[in-house]
Amino acid sequence: MKCDVLTLFPDIINAYLKESILKRAQEKKLIEVKIYNIRDFASDKHKIVDDYPYGGGPGMVLKPEPLFNVIDFLKKDNEQRRTILLSPQGRPFDQRLAGEFSEEKRRLVFICGRYEGIDERVMSLIDEEISIGDYVMTGGELGALVIIDASARLIKGALGDEKSIEEESFSWGLLDYPHYTRPREFRGLSVPDILVSGNHKEIWLWRRREAIRKTFKVRPELLEKIQLTDEDKKILSEIKEEQ
Ligand code: SAM
Repeated sequence: MKCDVLTLFPDIINAYLKESILKRAQEKKLIEVKIYNIRDFASDKHKIVDDYPYGGGPGMVLKPEPLFNVIDFLKKDNEQRRTILLSPQGRPFDQRLAGEFSEEKRRLVFICGRYEGIDERVMSLIDEEISIGDYVMTGGELGALVIIDASARLIKGALGDEKSIEEESFSWGLLDYPHYTRPREFRGLSVPDILVSGNHKEIWLWRRREAIRKTFKVRPELLEKIQLTDEDKKILSEIKEEQ
Protein backbone atom coordinates (compact mmCIF):
# COMPACT_ATOMS: atom_id res chain seq x y z
CA MET A 1 0.00 0.00 0.00
CA LYS A 2 1.53 3.29 -1.09
CA CYS A 3 0.21 6.56 0.28
CA ASP A 4 0.78 10.29 -0.13
CA VAL A 5 -0.56 12.42 2.70
CA LEU A 6 -1.14 16.11 1.97
CA THR A 7 -1.31 18.07 5.21
CA LEU A 8 -0.52 21.38 6.87
CA PHE A 9 0.75 19.46 9.91
CA PRO A 10 3.27 16.80 8.79
CA ASP A 11 4.49 16.23 12.36
CA ILE A 12 1.09 14.80 13.35
CA ILE A 13 1.38 12.13 10.66
CA ASN A 14 5.09 11.51 11.30
CA ALA A 15 4.64 11.05 15.03
CA TYR A 16 2.16 8.21 14.57
CA LEU A 17 3.98 6.51 11.72
CA LYS A 18 7.26 6.19 13.57
CA GLU A 19 5.85 3.88 16.25
CA SER A 20 4.78 0.25 16.57
CA ILE A 21 3.16 -1.75 13.77
CA LEU A 22 3.10 1.04 11.18
CA LYS A 23 6.79 1.70 11.77
CA ARG A 24 7.57 -1.98 11.21
CA ALA A 25 5.26 -2.18 8.19
CA GLN A 26 7.27 0.62 6.58
CA GLU A 27 10.57 -1.04 7.46
CA LYS A 28 9.32 -4.27 5.88
CA LYS A 29 8.25 -2.22 2.82
CA LEU A 30 4.65 -3.38 3.19
CA ILE A 31 3.56 0.23 3.22
CA GLU A 32 5.12 3.44 2.00
CA VAL A 33 3.91 6.83 3.21
CA LYS A 34 5.16 10.10 1.75
CA ILE A 35 4.12 13.29 3.51
CA TYR A 36 3.73 16.61 1.70
CA ASN A 37 3.32 19.92 3.49
CA ILE A 38 0.59 21.79 1.61
CA ARG A 39 2.17 25.08 2.71
CA ASP A 40 5.31 24.31 0.69
CA PHE A 41 3.13 24.51 -2.44
CA ALA A 42 1.60 27.93 -1.71
CA SER A 43 2.27 30.32 -4.59
CA ASP A 44 2.91 33.55 -2.71
CA LYS A 45 6.04 34.49 -0.79
CA HIS A 46 4.26 34.46 2.58
CA LYS A 47 3.10 30.87 1.99
CA ILE A 48 -0.52 31.72 2.76
CA VAL A 49 -2.82 28.72 2.44
CA ASP A 50 -6.17 30.07 3.68
CA ASP A 51 -8.47 32.97 2.91
CA TYR A 52 -11.87 34.40 3.82
CA PRO A 53 -14.97 32.70 2.38
CA TYR A 54 -16.75 34.36 -0.54
CA GLY A 55 -20.23 35.31 0.63
CA GLY A 56 -19.05 35.87 4.18
CA GLY A 57 -19.55 33.64 7.18
CA PRO A 58 -17.31 32.25 9.89
CA GLY A 59 -13.83 30.79 9.54
CA MET A 60 -11.31 30.47 6.75
CA VAL A 61 -11.14 28.27 3.67
CA LEU A 62 -8.14 26.30 2.37
CA LYS A 63 -7.16 27.99 -0.90
CA PRO A 64 -7.23 26.00 -4.16
CA GLU A 65 -3.75 26.92 -5.51
CA PRO A 66 -1.57 25.01 -3.02
CA LEU A 67 -3.63 21.83 -3.44
CA PHE A 68 -3.68 22.06 -7.24
CA ASN A 69 0.09 22.70 -7.13
CA VAL A 70 0.84 19.67 -4.98
CA ILE A 71 -1.35 17.39 -7.11
CA ASP A 72 0.40 18.70 -10.28
CA PHE A 73 3.70 17.92 -8.59
CA LEU A 74 2.60 14.36 -7.73
CA LYS A 75 1.39 13.74 -11.29
CA LYS A 76 4.93 14.18 -12.61
CA ASP A 77 5.85 10.59 -11.72
CA ASN A 78 2.97 9.25 -13.88
CA GLU A 79 1.88 6.77 -11.21
CA GLN A 80 -1.80 5.83 -10.97
CA ARG A 81 -3.47 7.46 -7.97
CA ARG A 82 -6.73 7.27 -6.05
CA THR A 83 -7.31 10.67 -4.47
CA ILE A 84 -9.28 10.85 -1.24
CA LEU A 85 -10.48 13.90 0.63
CA LEU A 86 -11.02 13.40 4.35
CA SER A 87 -14.38 14.98 5.04
CA PRO A 88 -17.29 14.62 7.47
CA GLN A 89 -19.47 14.71 4.35
CA GLY A 90 -17.86 11.59 2.90
CA ARG A 91 -18.71 7.93 2.61
CA PRO A 92 -18.26 6.29 6.02
CA PHE A 93 -15.00 4.40 6.44
CA ASP A 94 -15.40 0.80 7.62
CA GLN A 95 -13.59 -2.52 7.78
CA ARG A 96 -14.69 -3.45 4.26
CA LEU A 97 -13.13 -0.28 2.86
CA ALA A 98 -9.99 -0.93 4.92
CA GLY A 99 -9.74 -4.31 3.17
CA GLU A 100 -10.19 -2.63 -0.21
CA PHE A 101 -7.44 -0.06 0.52
CA SER A 102 -5.08 -2.73 1.81
CA GLU A 103 -5.18 -4.30 -1.68
CA GLU A 104 -5.19 -1.04 -3.68
CA LYS A 105 -2.51 -1.03 -6.35
CA ARG A 106 -2.79 2.69 -7.10
CA ARG A 107 -1.12 5.20 -4.75
CA LEU A 108 -3.60 6.49 -2.20
CA VAL A 109 -3.53 10.27 -1.87
CA PHE A 110 -5.08 11.58 1.34
CA ILE A 111 -5.95 15.27 1.43
CA CYS A 112 -6.30 16.51 5.00
CA GLY A 113 -8.58 19.53 5.17
CA ARG A 114 -8.40 22.24 7.83
CA TYR A 115 -10.34 25.40 8.73
CA GLU A 116 -13.93 25.40 7.40
CA GLY A 117 -12.75 23.00 4.69
CA ILE A 118 -11.29 23.28 1.20
CA ASP A 119 -12.27 25.49 -1.73
CA GLU A 120 -14.97 23.52 -3.59
CA ARG A 121 -13.01 23.67 -6.87
CA VAL A 122 -10.51 21.20 -5.41
CA MET A 123 -13.30 18.62 -5.70
CA SER A 124 -12.40 18.33 -9.40
CA LEU A 125 -9.14 16.62 -8.29
CA ILE A 126 -10.80 14.18 -5.94
CA ASP A 127 -12.04 10.64 -6.60
CA GLU A 128 -13.95 10.26 -3.33
CA GLU A 129 -14.67 11.83 0.04
CA ILE A 130 -14.33 9.64 3.10
CA SER A 131 -15.53 10.31 6.63
CA ILE A 132 -14.32 8.49 9.72
CA GLY A 133 -17.50 9.20 11.66
CA ASP A 134 -20.44 11.50 12.22
CA TYR A 135 -18.60 14.21 14.10
CA VAL A 136 -16.44 17.16 13.07
CA MET A 137 -12.72 17.27 13.88
CA THR A 138 -10.40 20.21 13.39
CA GLY A 139 -8.49 18.51 10.57
CA GLY A 140 -8.23 15.45 8.35
CA GLU A 141 -4.93 14.15 9.78
CA LEU A 142 -6.50 11.78 12.29
CA GLY A 143 -8.79 10.52 9.53
CA ALA A 144 -5.86 9.76 7.22
CA LEU A 145 -4.08 7.96 10.06
CA VAL A 146 -7.18 5.96 10.97
CA ILE A 147 -7.50 4.79 7.37
CA ILE A 148 -3.79 4.02 6.93
CA ASP A 149 -3.66 2.15 10.26
CA ALA A 150 -6.80 0.06 9.77
CA SER A 151 -5.82 -0.79 6.17
CA ALA A 152 -2.11 -1.48 6.76
CA ARG A 153 -2.74 -4.05 9.51
CA LEU A 154 -4.74 -6.12 7.01
CA ILE A 155 -1.70 -6.51 4.74
CA LYS A 156 -0.17 -9.96 5.05
CA GLY A 157 2.94 -9.78 7.24
CA ALA A 158 2.04 -6.52 9.00
CA LEU A 159 0.94 -8.19 12.24
CA GLY A 160 2.85 -10.72 14.29
CA ASP A 161 -0.01 -13.23 14.13
CA GLU A 162 -2.34 -13.19 11.12
CA LYS A 163 -5.00 -15.00 13.18
CA SER A 164 -5.62 -11.73 15.10
CA ILE A 165 -7.31 -10.39 11.98
CA GLU A 166 -9.51 -13.43 11.40
CA GLU A 167 -11.08 -13.30 14.83
CA GLU A 168 -11.32 -9.63 15.72
CA SER A 169 -14.26 -7.23 15.62
CA PHE A 170 -16.04 -6.94 12.26
CA SER A 171 -14.00 -9.65 10.55
CA TRP A 172 -16.78 -12.20 11.10
CA GLY A 173 -19.47 -9.50 11.19
CA LEU A 174 -19.64 -9.52 14.99
CA LEU A 175 -17.85 -7.54 17.67
CA ASP A 176 -14.90 -9.25 19.32
CA TYR A 177 -15.18 -11.69 22.24
CA PRO A 178 -13.58 -10.82 25.64
CA HIS A 179 -9.85 -11.41 26.12
CA TYR A 180 -7.99 -12.31 29.31
CA THR A 181 -4.33 -12.76 30.20
CA ARG A 182 -2.39 -13.63 33.37
CA PRO A 183 -2.87 -13.51 36.32
CA ARG A 184 -5.81 -15.90 36.57
CA GLU A 185 -7.08 -14.06 39.68
CA PHE A 186 -6.77 -10.30 39.90
CA ARG A 187 -8.30 -8.23 42.71
CA GLY A 188 -10.99 -10.84 43.22
CA LEU A 189 -11.82 -11.01 39.50
CA SER A 190 -11.16 -14.35 37.84
CA VAL A 191 -10.74 -15.62 34.31
CA PRO A 192 -13.72 -17.76 33.12
CA ASP A 193 -12.96 -21.45 33.82
CA ILE A 194 -13.71 -22.46 30.23
CA LEU A 195 -10.65 -20.52 28.97
CA VAL A 196 -8.29 -22.63 31.07
CA SER A 197 -10.08 -25.92 30.35
CA GLY A 198 -7.96 -26.76 27.30
CA ASN A 199 -11.15 -27.78 25.46
CA HIS A 200 -10.75 -25.87 22.19
CA LYS A 201 -14.20 -26.64 20.83
CA GLU A 202 -15.87 -25.39 24.03
CA ILE A 203 -13.60 -22.33 24.08
CA TRP A 204 -14.56 -21.54 20.48
CA LEU A 205 -18.28 -21.90 21.31
CA TRP A 206 -17.92 -19.70 24.39
CA ARG A 207 -16.14 -17.01 22.36
CA ARG A 208 -18.77 -17.13 19.65
CA ARG A 209 -21.53 -16.83 22.27
CA GLU A 210 -19.79 -13.85 23.95
CA ALA A 211 -19.22 -12.17 20.58
CA ILE A 212 -22.93 -12.54 19.79
CA ARG A 213 -23.83 -11.31 23.29
CA LYS A 214 -21.65 -8.18 22.97
CA THR A 215 -22.93 -7.42 19.48
CA PHE A 216 -26.56 -7.85 20.57
CA LYS A 217 -25.99 -5.55 23.56
CA VAL A 218 -23.99 -2.78 21.87
CA ARG A 219 -24.59 -2.95 18.09
CA PRO A 220 -27.73 -5.07 17.51
CA GLU A 221 -28.08 -3.72 13.95
CA LEU A 222 -24.90 -5.62 12.96
CA LEU A 223 -26.69 -8.93 13.59
CA GLU A 224 -29.15 -8.11 10.84
CA LYS A 225 -26.34 -7.74 8.30
CA ILE A 226 -24.76 -11.16 8.78
CA GLN A 227 -25.77 -14.71 8.01
CA LEU A 228 -26.29 -16.37 11.39
CA THR A 229 -26.00 -20.16 11.52
CA ASP A 230 -28.75 -22.21 13.19
CA GLU A 231 -26.39 -22.58 16.17
CA ASP A 232 -25.93 -18.77 16.29
CA LYS A 233 -29.70 -18.24 16.16
CA LYS A 234 -30.14 -20.64 19.07
CA ILE A 235 -27.42 -18.79 21.04
CA LEU A 236 -29.07 -15.45 20.24
CA SER A 237 -32.50 -16.55 21.44
CA GLU A 238 -30.93 -17.87 24.67
CA ILE A 239 -29.17 -14.53 25.18
CA LYS A 240 -32.47 -12.70 24.58
CA GLU A 241 -34.18 -14.92 27.15
CA GLU A 242 -31.39 -14.25 29.70
CA GLN A 243 -32.06 -10.52 29.33
N1 SAM B 1 -17.06 22.79 7.50
C1 SAM B 1 -16.89 21.37 7.40
C2 SAM B 1 -18.23 20.69 7.52
O1 SAM B 1 -19.08 21.16 8.26
O2 SAM B 1 -18.41 19.63 6.88
C3 SAM B 1 -15.97 20.86 8.50
C4 SAM B 1 -14.55 21.24 8.33
S1 SAM B 1 -13.51 20.51 9.55
C5 SAM B 1 -13.50 21.72 10.82
C6 SAM B 1 -11.90 20.64 8.88
C7 SAM B 1 -11.40 19.39 8.18
O3 SAM B 1 -11.32 18.31 9.10
C8 SAM B 1 -12.24 18.86 7.04
O4 SAM B 1 -11.99 19.55 5.85
C9 SAM B 1 -11.81 17.40 6.97
O5 SAM B 1 -10.64 17.25 6.19
C10 SAM B 1 -11.48 17.09 8.42
N2 SAM B 1 -12.54 16.33 9.11
C11 SAM B 1 -13.32 16.78 10.11
N3 SAM B 1 -14.17 15.85 10.53
C12 SAM B 1 -13.94 14.75 9.78
C13 SAM B 1 -14.49 13.44 9.75
N4 SAM B 1 -15.50 13.08 10.54
N5 SAM B 1 -13.98 12.55 8.87
C14 SAM B 1 -12.97 12.90 8.04
N6 SAM B 1 -12.41 14.13 8.03
C15 SAM B 1 -12.88 15.04 8.89
